[in-house]
Amino acid sequence: MMGLATDGGLLLPERVPALSAETLDAWRGLSYRDLAFRIISLFADDIPADDLKRLIDRSYDSFEHGEITPVLREDGVYILELFHGPTLAFKDVALQLLGNLFEYLLEERDEKMNIVGATSGDTGSAAIYGVRGKDRINIFIMHPHGKTSPIQALQMTTVTDPNVFNIAVEGTFDDCQNIVKTLFNDLPFKERHALGAVNSINWARVLAQVVYYFYAWFRVADAGAGKISFAVPTGNFGDIFAGYVAKRMGLPIEKLILATNENNILTRFINDGDYSLGTVVSTVSPSMDIQLASNFERYLYYLFDENPVRVRDAFAGLSTKGKIDFTDTEMARVHAEFASRSVDQEETLATIAAFRTETGYLLDPHTAVGVRAGQELASPGAEVVCLATAHPAKFGDAVEKATGITPPLPPALQGIDQLPSRCTVLPADQAAIRQFIEEHAR
Ligand SMILES: *Cc1c(COP(=O)(O)O)cnc(C)c1O
Repeated sequence: MMGLATDGGLLLPERVPALSAETLDAWRGLSYRDLAFRIISLFADDIPADDLKRLIDRSYDSFEHGEITPVLREDGVYILELFHGPTLAFKDVALQLLGNLFEYLLEERDEKMNIVGATSGDTGSAAIYGVRGKDRINIFIMHPHGKTSPIQALQMTTVTDPNVFNIAVEGTFDDCQNIVKTLFNDLPFKERHALGAVNSINWARVLAQVVYYFYAWFRVADAGAGKISFAVPTGNFGDIFAGYVAKRMGLPIEKLILATNENNILTRFINDGDYSLGTVVSTVSPSMDIQLASNFERYLYYLFDENPVRVRDAFAGLSTKGKIDFTDTEMARVHAEFASRSVDQEETLATIAAFRTETGYLLDPHTAVGVRAGQELASPGAEVVCLATAHPAKFGDAVEKATGITPPLPPALQGIDQLPSRCTVLPADQAAIRQFIEEHAR
């Protein structure tokens, strides 16, 4: 629940448990919920089993699909659909559970929390749906007024539970993020209002995502595959890091294929050892428009043989020299575990169109980035599971541009523009936002 560690670094479990081949075999036939219970239990020793089961069940009851994350075979690849949660993007898999875990722990400690965050789209709505109607938690989510897609704004502002406060800031996403930082850096304010965060550095989010790598691996192995790789559309390195954890636990993943859009720092790192920051450009896969991937720090800890001093030095070097240097041995290890490709806007749209022609299946632009990288980087004899991170209707403009087809809105979104909504428009001024939070904090 603490977000960052006290020294400013990220938290990791003391040990990543190693699973035996017998355990993997025994888990093969488990349902998604049972698998989630087994995996999360290995890391959470402070929640009684019955309570944890109940929290997991409740979290995934909100999913539209009985399998939670079904796996389909289309055009020579497997598609792992992660978008059957309430906001139609994979972030629900983690944030539905996180909301329930927070509520449970706050109840136990008799505490309250005020979650404050900024969003340019997907994270905000998934976070709001994760905690709507919860006791002990209020949530304040800022988005840049008029600058998110209309659907994304509606997904947030039509949640009218009394504990949800949408703030449309008259400014940019960076303005929103800077205000959040200012508020969290004001320690007396942070403590007085028990400020909490739900951003992707939260370890419990990563942990929840480990589950679907196991689930999908078992489905594809059941279908007779020997070697199995995963292609992951990547922004903050959270989703693919969950795959790395699954691999460390002993799930035989052939390669983790890291797919980026034009914001390709991670591709440059994997292919050339070049980890130097560029500037963020806007693309048709906006949830991946990121340069500094926060969860990358966690991977470096393992790449550097669990030596925290080397991690700290690397990040000190990043802020002074603007880059991190790697040894040949480290890069050899990276190449054994990852492959990567950057897929530009034109290729993304072409992939959506070609996939539609071949199979009739509509890819969202983020998923298309992963599919393209997966198709091109598959190792000989290996099957590729492509993570489908969003429903195509969520990014309908790009899909329409690529195919001429407007993806039909799923039932959850139909008529959303007719629903009552609640949102407060405020200037991009931290004093105004601070005052608003002060007035509405739990
Ligand atoms: C957040 C997001 C991503 C990127 O995931 P990371 O964990 O940040 O790497 C990809 N696709 C969609 C649709 C997203 O919402």
